[in-house]
Amino acid sequence: MPNSIGHRMPQQIPIVDYLVLSEPPHLEAHACTGCDALYFDRRNACAHCGGTEFTRKPLSNEGRVRAYTIVHRAAPSVPAPYTSVVVDLDDGGVVKANLLDVTGPEHIEPGMPVRLGTYVAGVDDDGVEAVAFGYRRQEDAA
Ligand SMILES: [Zn+2]
Repeated sequence: MPNSIGHRMPQQIPIVDYLVLSEPPHLEAHACTGCDALYFDRRNACAHCGGTEFTRKPLSNEGRVRAYTIVHRAAPSVPAPYTSVVVDLDDGGVVKANLLDVTGPEHIEPGMPVRLGTYVAGVDDDGVEAVAFGYRRQEDAA
């Protein structure tokens, strides 16, 4: 067995299995081969056409805000306020996620362009980092 200890890069795991930690990180959906419907969870059959075959499809990292909600109250462990957005991705797919770094409604407008961003949401006892994703305003992410 080769000794793999030596490079102590922090190990990272995505917090959801549709977040792929490649370079750059991106989301991957299950696309129905019958009708191109996109699902983030694994399905036995397509809700639209009943098809049972799916392929993995990488989704665009860029999209536009369709709707947003500023959440002022959350569980004690969750910093509030935070902004929850629904994003229409450029090449299809709709994602609900948090808008990163922005909490004021004056900074948000419908149709605003955003880009995927990742952050470390927690570290376990072995030093493995749990990586989550959200979206940033494209003007902030430049
Ligand atoms: Zn389908």
